[in-house]
Amino acid sequence: MSHVDNEVRPSNFIRNIIDEDLASGKHTSVHTRFPPEPNGYLHIGHAKSICLNFGIAEDYKGQCNLRFDDTNPEKEDIDYVNSIQEDVKWLGFQWDGEVRYSSNYFDELYGYAVELINKGLAYVCFLNAEETREYRGTLKEPGRNSPYRDTSPEENLALFEKMRDGGFKEGECVLRAKIDMASPFMCMRDPVIYRVKFAHHHQTGDKWCIYPMYDFTHCISDALENITHSLCTLEFQDNRRLYDWVLDNLNDFQAPNRTRQYEFSRLNLEYTLMSKRKLNDLVVRGLVSGWDDPRMPTIAGLRRRGYTPASIREFCQRIGVTKQDNLVEVGMLEACIREDLNENAPRAMAVIRPIKVIIENFTAPELEYVKAPVHPNLEEMGERELAFGREIYIDAADFREEANKQYKRLVLGKEVRLRNAYVIRAERCEKDAEGNVTTVYCTYDPETLGQNPSDGRKVKGVIHWVEATTALPAEFRLYDRLFIDANPAAAETVDEVLNPASLEVVHGFAEAPLANAKASQAYQFEREGYFCADSKDSAPGKLVFNLTVALRESF
Ligand code: ATP
Ligand code: MG
Repeated sequence: MSHVDNEVRPSNFIRNIIDEDLASGKHTSVHTRFPPEPNGYLHIGHAKSICLNFGIAEDYKGQCNLRFDDTNPEKEDIDYVNSIQEDVKWLGFQWDGEVRYSSNYFDELYGYAVELINKGLAYVCFLNAEETREYRGTLKEPGRNSPYRDTSPEENLALFEKMRDGGFKEGECVLRAKIDMASPFMCMRDPVIYRVKFAHHHQTGDKWCIYPMYDFTHCISDALENITHSLCTLEFQDNRRLYDWVLDNLNDFQAPNRTRQYEFSRLNLEYTLMSKRKLNDLVVRGLVSGWDDPRMPTIAGLRRRGYTPASIREFCQRIGVTKQDNLVEVGMLEACIREDLNENAPRAMAVIRPIKVIIENFTAPELEYVKAPVHPNLEEMGERELAFGREIYIDAADFREEANKQYKRLVLGKEVRLRNAYVIRAERCEKDAEGNVTTVYCTYDPETLGQNPSDGRKVKGVIHWVEATTALPAEFRLYDRLFIDANPAAAETVDEVLNPASLEVVHGFAEAPLANAKASQAYQFEREGYFCADSKDSAPGKLVFNLTVALRESF
């Protein structure tokens, strides 16, 4: 995409803050991070965060870390850890140094919890889940202090060590920060910072049977990595108070230029679910073929569908970064890939719903070869050679026995131009028992090769075709949106908003030069849409093409 190659990223409120921090000397360099939890595949919403964090690091010649926030071992998996790295790289970004994990800091985090205990700012609490809820109060009513809140630091330290050493069962007790049970911010009502979990961890194995909570871990990890600007989505706005409280109370983090968090609005996209939990549900229930199903809003799904990294980066630029919540139109994402592929994708011909055409006055014993440009505007992409002969396929929708003047395709007794080849005239047709046309008998005019339809001869339309004996049988997977409701997240269950017609599979033919079509290369199938070979199911001799996006926006 030419206007993306020399990416100049637009400013936004976060970049303004960074400019001020650099101008005032608060920071001399910028250090951001992208902190995914490895509990699912990345989706288009994460792309927004990736482009923001890595884009800032690139533009300010700073650094961006990739850190896995891995404090929920039961929900996490090494497969997710790997796919996330692959997706970030595919989007065109590289993190600074090694991949990091919050679990790298479990020893330090334990030490900081001990520091809070010693300062009388954390305690081991034995209220059960129901009691804890009851003591917490509501948005309208303050909470009440836990009866374990005033245990001495010595006692708490012994209890916390016992937790670490496996002396308590899961759910029996937790470590809580001692903050304020009357705070208007629920996250400040003595939040849990450690819980018992006898779970195997993908990074630390069986070393720990207590795991720190996300809120406690995240702010300390940022501070340990000297992150200057910690960028996250708006739902963490209240939690910033807790992060600041934790760092304020730890001796290591008293520097005036320590990490600060800034929140921006998350991407919501029409007709799309964006929660990993809900996407996982679709996968587990078999409602899609996997995390990389081409209908999924995951990076892996978009890649398999034929989206390019440049088109996704361009989309992230166009949506911008603000604090306003909004629902972005799918058309905006589609426009980005359509513009990219219109400019760059090779052209080819494929007949998706074929009927046979027999050209009765083509009597030569051998095929003829015609030349066609690979791209109408990019001469450097060269030409392809297409076989032409007595039998070809055209699309069923491109022939009618009778039609009015609006129909600029093949009609009995009338002429049409075959793209890159000759003018043909339909003489008669054959139908099957149900009345569907199966074969059209035509004649061609050998004098018309390569003529521009606008000069000389008055031929109303141009249709695409493939020569029958050399055509490659191909499966075409035609996708529609996965949900029928613009805001599927609001539905009670996905079942009521799932589009039953999100995938249609049809069988047709592709031109011979597509025999080795690669999954990473999308094509414009002329007059049909943008397609790419499927990375899992397509092979030479068994071609499968995914519809990336239609040629034009449809409403
Ligand atoms: P989900 O709700 O989809 O599971 P998450 O916030 O739990 O997302 P994380 O792995 O914690 O997923 O996200 C990593 C980073 O990506 C976080 O900084 C988060 O704020 C950001 N992020 C997640 N979803 C979006 C979104 N829709 N738009 C912008 N940023 C997002
Ligand atoms: Mg999260």
